[in-house]
Amino acid sequence: MADCIFCKIAAGDIPAEVVYEDDDVVAFRDINPQAPTHVQVIPRRHIERVTDLRPADDALMAKMMHAALTVVESEGLMPAGFRLVWNCGPNAGQAVLHIHLHVLGGRALGWPPG
Ligand code: 5GP
Ligand code: ZN
Repeated sequence: MADCIFCKIAAGDIPAEVVYEDDDVVAFRDINPQAPTHVQVIPRRHIERVTDLRPADDALMAKMMHAALTVVESEGLMPAGFRLVWNCGPNAGQAVLHIHLHVLGGRALGWPPG
C-alpha cells in the first residue's frame, strides 16, 4: 500500500535493520526499542489488522510464528524468556496499520502490561 511505512520497509524503500526475511515475511529491529531485543515480524502483504485475517491466511500466520521463533533463537532469548505481542485497535495502541508481531526480550517484562 502506497502510504504504509511497513510496506515500504518490506519493499526496501525505507531502511531497517532486517534480521530475517523470506518470500512472505520480514523481521526487522524496532526504531524505538522497548527492550534490548525488540523486533517486528510482518507479512510482506499489507493487512491492516489482525481482525482482517481469514482462514486463507493460516499458512502466512504460521510462517510469521516460525519467523518469530527464528528471531528468538538468533537473539538467544531462551531460556530467559520473551514476549510476543499483537496490538489491535486504539486501546492496544496500534500505531501502524500493517499487522506486526512484536518480539520482545532481553530483560524482565512486567505483567500486566501497561
Ligand atoms: P504498534 O504500536 O503499532 O503496535 O507498533 C508499531 C511499532 O513500529 C512501534 O514499536 C514503533 O517504534 C515501530 N516503528 C514505527 N515506525 C517505524 C520505522 O520506520 N522503522 C522501524 N524499524 N520501526 C518503526
Ligand atoms: Zn502495509
